[in-house]
Amino acid sequence: MSFPYDAPVSQTLFDRASLVTPGGVNSPVRAFRAVGGTPRFMVSGSGPYLTDADGREYVDLVCSWGPMILGHSHPEVIAAVQEAVARGTSFGTPGEGEVALAEEIVARIEPVEQVRLVSSGTEATMSAIRLARGFTGRAKVVKFAGCYHGHVDALLAAAGSGVATFGLPDTPGVTGAQAGDTIVLPYNDLAAVREAFAAHPGEIACVITEASPGNMGVVPPLYGFNAGLKELCAANGALYISDEVMTGFRTSKAGWFGVDGVRPDLMTFGKVMGGGFPAAAFGGRADVMAHLAPAGPVYQAGTLSGNPVATAAGLAQLRLLDDAAYAKVDAVSAEIRGLVGEALAKEGVAHTVQAASNMFSVFFTDRPVRNYEDAKQQEAFRFTAFFHSLLSQGVYLPPSAFESWFVSTAHDTQAVERIAAALPAAARAASEATA
Ligand code: PLP
Repeated sequence: MSFPYDAPVSQTLFDRASLVTPGGVNSPVRAFRAVGGTPRFMVSGSGPYLTDADGREYVDLVCSWGPMILGHSHPEVIAAVQEAVARGTSFGTPGEGEVALAEEIVARIEPVEQVRLVSSGTEATMSAIRLARGFTGRAKVVKFAGCYHGHVDALLAAAGSGVATFGLPDTPGVTGAQAGDTIVLPYNDLAAVREAFAAHPGEIACVITEASPGNMGVVPPLYGFNAGLKELCAANGALYISDEVMTGFRTSKAGWFGVDGVRPDLMTFGKVMGGGFPAAAFGGRADVMAHLAPAGPVYQAGTLSGNPVATAAGLAQLRLLDDAAYAKVDAVSAEIRGLVGEALAKEGVAHTVQAASNMFSVFFTDRPVRNYEDAKQQEAFRFTAFFHSLLSQGVYLPPSAFESWFVSTAHDTQAVERIAAALPAAARAASEATA
């Protein structure tokens, strides 16, 4: 497939970036390697729109991979950040903002009795696993193929997101010792989890799962799967860790817990809770969290943890996320999903649109996708054509068929109309694409 050379400034920036940064990007998912062409360098965002360095505007269906649930440059979030910045950017001491953010998380998510703030989702899952191992005195961790929990060494086995996009089986640099205690199982398969517990009695510290996976595309848990995990963990003395870095504060006021009500022992958060700044967290049962330093022996720390600017942004965003806000995001997500399905059906393109509350993605297959193996069966070459057609018409999708799409409260009628106008040509391009 060839691409129109219509982003000269982005191309120049990408050439410069590629000289000083591996692959020209600071996170692999931002590269266009899976779809080809030049990544767009964005210079500003406002509401549902992004503007690139060539001055082209896009309806944004990535929303910074989830965080921007109020759209870009929300005036109240910007005001909170400006006020915080004016007081100083980091103190290296406790501050009231981090207490308020922790209180907000504890108030919203009932299983979280205590919470520790960190700066990225990766730190949150890495720390939660260390804590689970320290608490149980066991080494092994169960994870699911296609679930991504950040670039934690032990969790980079059969991971989703960029690891799935680039088809990396294993990551060089992760040693056998680091990954040797990781058991990778197929998603949505409780029998496999039961067998793993039977094969490793007294050895499994925790099962970690995306609360509702979005990193192999959106693949919600089958009815009873999360509850079954919780039950098996409880019966075998292991902790159930629900990774809500993506779903937390997005799929409902209380994240995916607010949807399925299954009570984890530990949970991890990121993305939305930082309001576009690096803030993340892990928390859960008070008796488990009590093992964390300085209260207990399991070490965990961070120079910028609970940063005053990041916590101000996160708090401002969370306080704006009331029931009405979620109703709005859910409604616009349903509308866009409907339009995408309609356009693809009209062109006879085999597809399945899957959603978890307002998170959704399109698989280019007519079969339901229940795990990573199913996700890999789709005709991803059709996504490439679909993606580039939308991009050239000013609609920005994640540059991979294995990612969730995200919308915001700012996606209004005008933004939806722009997407609707672009879809027929994109669906046609998908139908005409060849492998
Ligand atoms: N867990 C999940 C479910 C995620 O989706 C991600 C990132 O996409 C992470 C963890 C890692 O978060 P971060 O990129 O902030 O390190």
